Amino acid sequence: MLKLTPEEVAFQEEVRAFFARDYPAHVIAKNKAGQRLTKQDHIDAQRALNARGWLGVGWPRDVGGTGWTPIERYIFDEELEFAHAAGIIPMAVIYIGPIIAAFGSEQQKTEWLPAILESRSFWAQGYSEPEAGSDLASLRFSAVRDGDDYILNGTKIWTSGAHWADWIFCLARTSREERKQQGISLICAPLGLPGIRVHPIRLIDGSDELARIEFDNVRVPITNRIGDEGQAWHYANVLLKTERLSYAHIGSKKRDLAALLDQAAKLPARGSGTMDRDPAFRFAHARIEARLAAIEASILRALRGEISMATAAALKIACTECAQAITGLAIDLAGRSRLPMLDRSVADWADAAPAVAPFGPVALQSYLFERAQTIYGGSTEVQKNIIWRALAGMAR
Ligand SMILES: Cc1cc2nc3c(=O)[nH]c(=O)nc-3n(C[C@H](O)[C@H](O)[C@H](O)COP(=O)(O)OP(=O)(O)OC[C@H]3O[C@@H](n4cnc5c(N)ncnc54)[C@H](O)[C@@H]3O)c2cc1C
Repeated sequence: MLKLTPEEVAFQEEVRAFFARDYPAHVIAKNKAGQRLTKQDHIDAQRALNARGWLGVGWPRDVGGTGWTPIERYIFDEELEFAHAAGIIPMAVIYIGPIIAAFGSEQQKTEWLPAILESRSFWAQGYSEPEAGSDLASLRFSAVRDGDDYILNGTKIWTSGAHWADWIFCLARTSREERKQQGISLICAPLGLPGIRVHPIRLIDGSDELARIEFDNVRVPITNRIGDEGQAWHYANVLLKTERLSYAHIGSKKRDLAALLDQAAKLPARGSGTMDRDPAFRFAHARIEARLAAIEASILRALRGEISMATAAALKIACTECAQAITGLAIDLAGRSRLPMLDRSVADWADAAPAVAPFGPVALQSYLFERAQTIYGGSTEVQKNIIWRALAGMAR
């Protein structure tokens, strides 16, 4: 397992003390109680991190980033999750921020990056389209040059966080080339522009944090393009690798597994005793714990070297299955204990049923939401294709 150097131990203690002392307590309290966070909660949380210089994780130092080593980043993520702090909303900070830092113009770096760090602007990721998800390169969203502008037309779908976002970064076709991966550009637009309509999509877990976004002759300056025209496939792949690794959440998995044991100790088992003594529950719990330990070891090994697309794909599948096993076990525990699992979106369950511990409703919502991890960031089947291509290439 992870052997920390004395400097890393000191850093870990510093991070732990920060979350205990200098981080908004109301955000931690809400998260612990399983309540949904508001945009203002996220702003408070991100500003506290930024005040400490710890929001730009994965960004280079010269643009306000932490410049952390992968292990320091890992320690930070784990402590954040142990503390029940808010996850950093990834679209701006984790996904597009490092791409702007690496490939953006000086103007983009000086305007967009500080606004992200100060939580003045939130971003959304406009990759998927109704006919282009797994086969992203077949996208039809178009950007046509008109003088110093692009005219954007098309539809983006499954856009997370669009209800809070001020900006969107889009993959757009700027020319038709022989290979469909060519001729795609990365173009950004403020979501308030004329011609943009955002339609929320209701999800199975009761949230409506996804949207379909229509662009009808939307005009943006060509200076809103990140990097070279037609080269976005490369930037998109750099981003997707980061995105897949960002789903690991080892700290919250450990935290949730420990919380499951605590919860089981409060629930009566059939016959006598409590559920934490139930052999079937203990066995299922131990299996997941062992799996999580193996995943953590693999991630730490991967972090020490260059991570290939195939490794990122394998880790994404493993983390997805582990998250789903944990939320599945929580549902099993709540169900066997006959806990009500109200829909948090139709009734404020805390008011509607004050006698009900939040465990049941939160377990249900988490269970339903984790199903989506099989799909977002590239589906499990598509990750398996990536792994197979890498293996076949090695065998040749
Ligand atoms: C919760 C959530 C949040 C999301 N957030 C965003 C976001 O912020 N921005 C964004 O751009 N997108 C987002 N997405 C979209 C996501 O990236 C796509 O849903 C995903 O890439 C799959 O595309 P699709 O839905 O079009 O399914 P399809 O590509 O149509 O796939 C349908 C089924 O066919 C399988 N399949 C497809 N191709 C192959 C193949 N070659 N081999 C084997 N099986 C295959 C898939 O595995 C899947 O089971 C989000 C999705 C979800 C669920």
